[in-house]
Amino acid sequence: MTNPLLTDSPLPDFPAIEASHVEPAIRQLLEGNRRALAALLTGGAEGWDGLVAPIERMHHRLARAWSPVGHLNGVMNSDDLRVAYNACLPLLTAYHTELAQNADLCAAYQRVLDRDGASLDAAQRKLLENALRDFRLAGVSLPADRKQRFGQVMERLATVQAKFDENVLDATNAWSRHVADEVELAGLPANTVQRARQTAEAVGQSGWLLSLDAPNYQAVMTHAESDTLRREFYEAWVTRASDQGPHAGQWDNSPLMAEILALRSEAANLVGFSSFAEYSIATKMAHRTDEVLDFLRELARVSRPAAKREFAEVEQFAGRSLEAWDVAFYAERLKRARLDVSEEALRPYFPLPRVLAGLFTVVTRLYGVRIVARPDALVYHEDIRYFDIVDRDGTPRGGFFLDLYARPKKRGGAWMDECVGRIRMADASALPVAYLVCNFSPPVSSQPSLLTHQEVLTLFHEFGHGLHHMLTRVDYPSVAGINGVPWDAVELPSQFMENFAWRDEVLPLISAHVETGEPLPAEMLRKLQGTRTFQAGMHTARQLEFALFDFRLHAEYVPHAPPRIAETLAQVRDEVAVVRPPAFNRFPNSFQHVFSGGYAAGYYSYKWAEVLSADAFGAFEEHGVFDLPTARRFLKSILERGGSRDAMEAFVEFRGRKPQIEPLLRQLGLAAWPC
Ligand SMILES: [Zn+2]
Repeated sequence: MTNPLLTDSPLPDFPAIEASHVEPAIRQLLEGNRRALAALLTGGAEGWDGLVAPIERMHHRLARAWSPVGHLNGVMNSDDLRVAYNACLPLLTAYHTELAQNADLCAAYQRVLDRDGASLDAAQRKLLENALRDFRLAGVSLPADRKQRFGQVMERLATVQAKFDENVLDATNAWSRHVADEVELAGLPANTVQRARQTAEAVGQSGWLLSLDAPNYQAVMTHAESDTLRREFYEAWVTRASDQGPHAGQWDNSPLMAEILALRSEAANLVGFSSFAEYSIATKMAHRTDEVLDFLRELARVSRPAAKREFAEVEQFAGRSLEAWDVAFYAERLKRARLDVSEEALRPYFPLPRVLAGLFTVVTRLYGVRIVARPDALVYHEDIRYFDIVDRDGTPRGGFFLDLYARPKKRGGAWMDECVGRIRMADASALPVAYLVCNFSPPVSSQPSLLTHQEVLTLFHEFGHGLHHMLTRVDYPSVAGINGVPWDAVELPSQFMENFAWRDEVLPLISAHVETGEPLPAEMLRKLQGTRTFQAGMHTARQLEFALFDFRLHAEYVPHAPPRIAETLAQVRDEVAVVRPPAFNRFPNSFQHVFSGGYAAGYYSYKWAEVLSADAFGAFEEHGVFDLPTARRFLKSILERGGSRDAMEAFVEFRGRKPQIEPLLRQLGLAAWPC
């Protein structure tokens, strides 16, 4: 019997896939790839067709077999599948490490670029340059002793970063707040109160027990009327894993933070970079560290007056000067007083079928492609639908599985992922297929799923990622679609797409009251649009504080000297912050994005991509939301090109100039403030 993960059918045969297929398929592919690679290298394979193309086909086959496994593990989890999935993870990690460390392969790629570079197309050259860069970042060509040290540093880094996470988790779990008198819960949303009740019951206590997790922290800071409760929560939250607060010194991450910075700096130095910040941007759209710093500082300079003014407004509204734990609470009150619009009240205007039809109309009007349901496609659950994307002349471009409703055994959140990557080379061709996943409330009896505007934005966002993957014209998997797109540019098409869901021209297409069919009334629309700019200056200041702190910490690190964590943070706050936190605040000690996650010297990417997407959309604001020449340019320069060219060059080709921050400032309502 054939293994359904090893067939070349255009779409996965979901109903046939079983957990028992997973490990044999992956082992077979990895062994086959290893044998084929060894044969290529010992046989002296040369050139694009002889060497690179067969390796691209190997990557494609493996990605294609693994994709439905990873996807099903995320959306239809079962014990069997989880075991099979976890059994394959170390096999895949070992295989990828082996590839990254293969000096013969690196040398062979270098020869292809040196000898045939002039005859290759731009996408082929970009693919080789990316591959050679990644070999360098993995330390492939270091002398033996330094290569060994690099391996040790990376291994130790993984261990210390994991320990950092554990400490945050333990410190978070260690604290909770018991509430005996209901009065103290005043202002909190009903679901928070109910959860606190259940938490107390679960441990045999009376009253309410508020654990220290993100939803509770957010709820308390934003809604709790009790100053004491807010202050206690704030202190517990911002002192986690530090020398301060209710568990001072118990899970203190300070020594680990110093070690993480030292290890990152050493790893970067070993492979030839002067700092970890330089190492980080080697794979990003930004090319120089001062480019990132200038960008953040300029944004800070122009948004700070608005942030200060907004903060003054909140204090005026509260009638007193505010502590750090008061700001979110009074900001929310002010928002309610000014913009009386609730997400729940908007739901009846956004029935899912209407939103989806409107979204498809927007895509058709912009890019000329049609989206057609294919009801006979094989799916893994009855709620899933499959759609083809076809050109005006009927030529197929790709397709997507749409998996929109929350259900048990499905991971939370929303995302786009590659099901099949586009490839068009000798002996192999496939059209791109995506998974688009959300977690909306399912329909109830005859009523369709009703979305909040936030959920509408989520759908547009993920669809933007999907278009980047599905409309690609690049034929080589490593740089097709979102592959090879730098981290600080990958959110451009997704955030760009969100803009449409705010526009007067688009809202009538995506909204229709579930009972009356009426589009969103003008007054509600204005209030909704007002929420977009509300306190955008303060929010921007906060993001810039994180981004500057992260980047400067890694750019200015001096080896063998104590890390200047507190000093750097204090300087950044002097420069950008409007809310001054109390002296006990130790937020870096639980800043996982930067100390243990993938955003080290990369937190700036959030704002960077926002500037790109707002500026790209600015072209549509100038020429019209459905302006065809502008849309066609966006399609050709950005969506179809994937990672096959330098992200800045692609942007300049579309916009006719480098990115500017003004469109983002306008979008956030910050442009009008005097600097
Ligand atoms: Zn995204």
